[in-house]
Amino acid sequence: MIYFACAACEQPLTGDLRESQMFPASDNLSDHRIAAPRVARGTYAINYDATRFILHPDDVPGTTRHADSKRCNGCCGLDGQDGPNLVCLGCGVDVATKESDCWTDNLVAVIAAAVLTNSRSSS
Ligand SMILES: [Zn+2]
Ligand SMILES: [Zn+2]
Repeated sequence: MIYFACAACEQPLTGDLRESQMFPASDNLSDHRIAAPRVARGTYAINYDATRFILHPDDVPGTTRHADSKRCNGCCGLDGQDGPNLVCLGCGVDVATKESDCWTDNLVAVIAAAVLTNSRSSS
């Protein structure tokens, strides 16, 4: 098991997670409904170029919404198209982008360079 922590202040951003694969993208993203999450709760996936960790939208308790409302556009949720919209609850640095709108994916993309990957022994 691993968890992610803020690289700047070391505050934990997630609970324990295990690596998994992303589910296939929903093919009805334009259906005006919020899509199913791309990973299961308690898991994370690594994106295609290893710059992002993809998490379930409810698995980042150590983050909060960006204070800049321009980063938090969206009609039913957050569209995540204007830069990182989640910051570390401890020190306020940008750590992730949440997409949860009716026409986007439903996931949190944690910026790999902004976090520490800490392992927790599973024994
Ligand atoms: Zn909408
Ligand atoms: Zn921090």
